[in-house]
Amino acid sequence: MKRVVIVGGGISGLTAAYKIKKKSSEANLPIEVLLIEEKERLGGIFLTEKANGFLIEGGPDSFESEKPHTLALAEELGIAHQVIGCDEEAHLTFIFWNNKLWQLPRGLLALAPARISSILFCPLLSWSGKIRALLDFMIPPLGDKDEEISLAEFYKRRFGKEIFDRVAEPLLGSIYACIPEIISIRSCWPRALILEKEYGSLLRGMLARGRMAREGTKAGEKKLPIFMTFREGMCELTKALADYIGSENLITGRKAVSLRENSGKGFTLLLDDAGAITADACILATAPSHATAEIVRDIDPGLTDILLKIPYVSSATISLGYKREKFSHPLQGFGVLVSRQEKLQVKAISWCSTKFAYRSPEGYVLIRCFMGTAEDEGIVYQSDEEVLKVVKEELKKIMGINSEPILTKIYRWENSMPQYLLGHEKRVRFIEQRLTHKYQGLYLVGNAYYGIGINDCIHNATQAAERAIEFLLK
Ligand SMILES: Cc1cc2nc3c(=O)[nH]c(=O)nc-3n(C[C@H](O)[C@H](O)[C@H](O)COP(=O)(O)OP(=O)(O)OC[C@H]3O[C@@H](n4cnc5c(N)ncnc54)[C@H](O)[C@@H]3O)c2cc1C
Repeated sequence: MKRVVIVGGGISGLTAAYKIKKKSSEANLPIEVLLIEEKERLGGIFLTEKANGFLIEGGPDSFESEKPHTLALAEELGIAHQVIGCDEEAHLTFIFWNNKLWQLPRGLLALAPARISSILFCPLLSWSGKIRALLDFMIPPLGDKDEEISLAEFYKRRFGKEIFDRVAEPLLGSIYACIPEIISIRSCWPRALILEKEYGSLLRGMLARGRMAREGTKAGEKKLPIFMTFREGMCELTKALADYIGSENLITGRKAVSLRENSGKGFTLLLDDAGAITADACILATAPSHATAEIVRDIDPGLTDILLKIPYVSSATISLGYKREKFSHPLQGFGVLVSRQEKLQVKAISWCSTKFAYRSPEGYVLIRCFMGTAEDEGIVYQSDEEVLKVVKEELKKIMGINSEPILTKIYRWENSMPQYLLGHEKRVRFIEQRLTHKYQGLYLVGNAYYGIGINDCIHNATQAAERAIEFLLK
């Protein structure tokens, strides 16, 4: 029997373990899996809690339907019937800019504008800003240059500074918690480069894709809501994965401290309780990548150095429940994104009880604030009292909320958001080459490499699982 040891029990590690166990039981392969997680709780950043009838997500609250991987995994696990979509009727997003809330036209909700009308009718933009954004149709693609450019530079070149500052930057802040001037377009938003290359303009590309989607819908394909989650919260997914993997293949409360290579015959993983596990292949699904760096330090200090070069930002989510009758805001929409120009600590507010059903009991509402970006993560380390004081002050400023919440929950996520800085692609390529040439049977997965979204993590972990099986059957 061959053994694959997987370190890290977040969505990446759980997916890899599930895929290997499923494939080996279906095809009757002589392969077993063992997953090691440092914490007693599995799920990593996935954390769903119930309190006073509210369903609260401490970590991710949804996945995007644009990529198929999460939904496909739910289907495989037999829990697709638990998937619920966001309330498309209430699909409005606001931007807090210039001390005011502005409703964003629907076509501007993705990073690139999806409709011409969304630019023309965007109340946030001046006429010169609108005309500049439409010049995208005429700006030639950058071509296959080796030199990388930042997301901000790419966006401003195509659409201009005004729409970048007022629309794109707040959207980016809520997705990547990043400084757009220093993150890589190639690693964070590769689709934009593909569309630019294929259609000569991003707007033209978005319009063509929109047309294809509409034709697909007309042809009988079901249009999925843009955001989806599970009726009982995102942890339904990690729980289903853990149930399938089985407690006999899971070790929690043990930290992996070091990996040794057994002269080309597999690996030995040393644990913090002085235990050692031997394996024929190893998948490190640890996050942040700094944790992975420590595990491989003994076998490859060069790999450690590269892994340490991927920076992370700490973030926090703060959920607040209110009595509906005492709440002054109608919450018609999905929430608010805050422009960095406003210099506030709250970067986004999700109107959870409007966005998804079953999040708050009858007569109550639930909202969630997101704090911590690369420019400003200090707030995450303040006391609960200080965090709540700032949140309440800023909610009053942004949404005019005066009422006292009846429930508050703070979740801090230290070093949770990887930053794909310029040069990220080269660093990841170096890691891949190092593994392929020197450590056959060792794989690194997780949000540090090929995308931070849940879909990307699942896709990356699935590929590593397939490669590990292929390696073991050689
Ligand atoms: C607040 C927040 C909200 C988000 N919201 C969304 C969203 O709505 N939609 C979306 O698509 N994405 C979202 N993301 C991104 C997405 O949730 C993450 O990228 C993804 O969950 C990361 O999963 P992972 O398994 O790679 O890492 P993690 O979930 O961090 O798991 C890594 C695991 O490794 C363990 N570990 C580390 N070191 C060791 C060691 N030495 N030994 C043993 N175990 C170890 C850790 O304890 C942890 O459990 C969000 C991220 C954050 C921080």
